[in-house]
Amino acid sequence: MTTHPETLALHAGWRADPATTAVAVPIYQTSSFLFPSTETAANLFALSEMGNIYTRIMNPTTDVLEKRVAALEGGVAALALASGQAASAFAVKNLARAGDNIVSSTDLYGGTWNLFQNQLRDEGIEVRFVDPEDPEAFARATDSRTRAYYAETLPNPKLRVFPIAEVAAIGRRVGIPLIMDNTAAPLLVKPLEHGAAVVMHSVTKYLGGHGNSIGGIIVDGGNFDWAAHAERQPALNMPDPSYHGAVWTEATKPLGPVAYIIKARVTLLRDLGSALSPFNAFLFLQGIETVALRMRAHCDNADSVVRFLTSRPEVARVIHPSLATGQEAARVAKYLPAGKGGMVGLELAGGAAAGKRFIDALKLFYHVANVGDARSLAIHPASTTHAQLSPAEQAATGVSPGYVRLCVGIEHIDDILADLDQALAATGG
Ligand code: PLP
Repeated sequence: MTTHPETLALHAGWRADPATTAVAVPIYQTSSFLFPSTETAANLFALSEMGNIYTRIMNPTTDVLEKRVAALEGGVAALALASGQAASAFAVKNLARAGDNIVSSTDLYGGTWNLFQNQLRDEGIEVRFVDPEDPEAFARATDSRTRAYYAETLPNPKLRVFPIAEVAAIGRRVGIPLIMDNTAAPLLVKPLEHGAAVVMHSVTKYLGGHGNSIGGIIVDGGNFDWAAHAERQPALNMPDPSYHGAVWTEATKPLGPVAYIIKARVTLLRDLGSALSPFNAFLFLQGIETVALRMRAHCDNADSVVRFLTSRPEVARVIHPSLATGQEAARVAKYLPAGKGGMVGLELAGGAAAGKRFIDALKLFYHVANVGDARSLAIHPASTTHAQLSPAEQAATGVSPGYVRLCVGIEHIDDILADLDQALAATGG
């Protein structure tokens, strides 16, 4: 099979419907699947035979989405979920239990920060935040109960590219996998090729691309030797009482290097039930068909927006990977050679008040709490997506009071620039 994303986005995981020869992936809108015999039913539940059981755990439409995203990321298998939030939570909870910890980059989406700082802490899982500027900070925060490292490739709103290979290598030396949230940069960077073990996405964003559904996905890289680090990774190497004592690295051996993702499906998804609807899986598959074209257009338009904003006196600072300097510029060149992403941050010279006037004046850009839509979007994070964080936490994640985030869409660039031009004029300098 090819590795070209343009082709994978249309073909991976599917040729035609085995029952009807339909070319478009059918929406298998069913809760359950007929067992041909009691023997087959028992085998399916025992995982000695693979097949459909119940849509909370798997579904043929969702299966194609999982195969397609796994192929795009260069992984071996994937698990689709009802939201990106569920994907972040499952990715961690699949390895860490009460009393364990993970080490996370400070550069996180506000919802992930809350999940880590409050929800997981309430469940007894400690998240230790470190500044990724110094990759060794991950090593310093590690102890014998550290089960994973976690980061975003192109973290919004700082848009500071994460040192994937450096941190992945530190973890691999001691049996700790790097989980990368690649929501902002599908196709631009493949974290698994740089040593990450697991990739997750909010499919809601660029992969889906049309702002019509919420979904998440976890991709297993199949490139991490869990069994070689049995003490470090007990969740995959000790008998699991919730599945008649299965040791996941042993039980899944005949299926390939998929212990991590199988365990997530048959325990976490079984128990917590954050299943994606087959209809949303279909909409995501439609969106993904054009993701390569869209990512190119997002990046080209964002580059033009950066040039435009840097020339304007109303703008005090523009934040975009293309403007990185020093060591950060080297990281951008290494990890984002194909495009620097569609998100652009700006600080208005007039501060928070000017930021609000700017957003209120936008006519083409939508003021919404989303990114990665084909349409252009804008938001003021301090009063919305990051409002539940303390001022110190906001500062740690890169949100200043006057920060405005643009998510540049794929409209004609002249129309995008005209809207920014008139909105800047409305800020009153
Ligand atoms: N990760 C990142 C980087 C995001 O931007 C978001 C949502 O904005 C999420 C995860 C959570 O995804 P969802 O909104 O699909 O739950």
